Amino acid sequence: MTQRAYNFNAGPSALPLEVLEKAQQQLVNFRDSGMSIMEMSHRSAIFDEVHNEAIALLKKLYAIPENYEVLFLQGGASLQFTMIPMNFLQADQKASYVLSGSWSEKAIKEAKLFGTPVEAASTKENKYRNIPALADIQYNEEDAYLHITSNNTIYGTQWKEFPETGNVPLIADMSSDILSKPVDVSKFGLIYAGAQKNLGPSGVTVVIIRKDLLEKANKNIPTMLKYSTHADSNSLYNTPPTFGIYMLGEVLKWVESKGGVVEIEKHNELKAKVIYDAIDNSNGFYKGHATPESRSLMNITFRVTDEELEKQFLAEAKAAGFVGLNGHRSVGGCRASTYNAVPLEACEALRDFMVEFQQKHQ
Ligand code: PLP
Repeated sequence: MTQRAYNFNAGPSALPLEVLEKAQQQLVNFRDSGMSIMEMSHRSAIFDEVHNEAIALLKKLYAIPENYEVLFLQGGASLQFTMIPMNFLQADQKASYVLSGSWSEKAIKEAKLFGTPVEAASTKENKYRNIPALADIQYNEEDAYLHITSNNTIYGTQWKEFPETGNVPLIADMSSDILSKPVDVSKFGLIYAGAQKNLGPSGVTVVIIRKDLLEKANKNIPTMLKYSTHADSNSLYNTPPTFGIYMLGEVLKWVESKGGVVEIEKHNELKAKVIYDAIDNSNGFYKGHATPESRSLMNITFRVTDEELEKQFLAEAKAAGFVGLNGHRSVGGCRASTYNAVPLEACEALRDFMVEFQQKHQ
């Protein structure tokens, strides 16, 4: 059995051991071709199969309706901050953005280059500790779209239900919780996610887009930045990140083998509870950042209440083999990212470490 780190990295993040081992086994001679998948033409029959299998499996796992396309793009979720307004926002038009953390701030900043984005709601004054109540989200029927971030990686908050936006397309950055639970895709006009947390290695960005939006998109924009370019060529307009797409397909197979998103969600709830309980049962020794009703199952953000002890906590945790527990450099504190591939045993080991640290230092 390979020795694995307790990997709580926020991204890129842990991948399932089974997937890594299978990839290792297939690395040099993929499906008896005498080549690695990395050495193969992206126009070859073997790659075509891998590519289409991945698309089909994502559609199956998320029950994606017929009127949606699945695209594999590059440029990370960050390029989606640009592509979305470039494709869908007119210069004289408004789009609404819910500000629930730093990634939504980055998204709205890009939209300003193309039209008039407006804040639909913001929880910035509350240090992004919560997701706004659905009733507090304001947007107009004429808006090009409403943009949300379904899970706020840095602050550790997650949407539990989504707004019903009728004719206004709902667009969601799901980079840090895609495929962590069932989602009704039909509520969304577009979903996007960098692969590097729940889907595979970095380098692939998944976009799930409703087909009617492809037709409505702005035409006079660069070819590579048009969603329709990629939809029209099954994401093979140019050379795609072939190894990343192969790995993504393997991660999807792993999700399927675990019982799909319904079972994955149950497991994620169990894992997160182990750590949230350690925080809640600590009599204030540890303090969670997010308000309980907005807590993320993917990124658990907390402080050791005594600041000096916090440094020691992080240093000792690192020495004990826990990886990636420092909070994001913009906010400090501690963060345990418990994405799909992080095993329950890692969460239990962290819980035991937290309890022991508290016993020693209280
Ligand atoms: N959106 C969210 C919610 C993220 O967590 C991240 C990265 O961590 C990004 C966007 C940026 O993704 P990328 O690095 O793929 O551009």
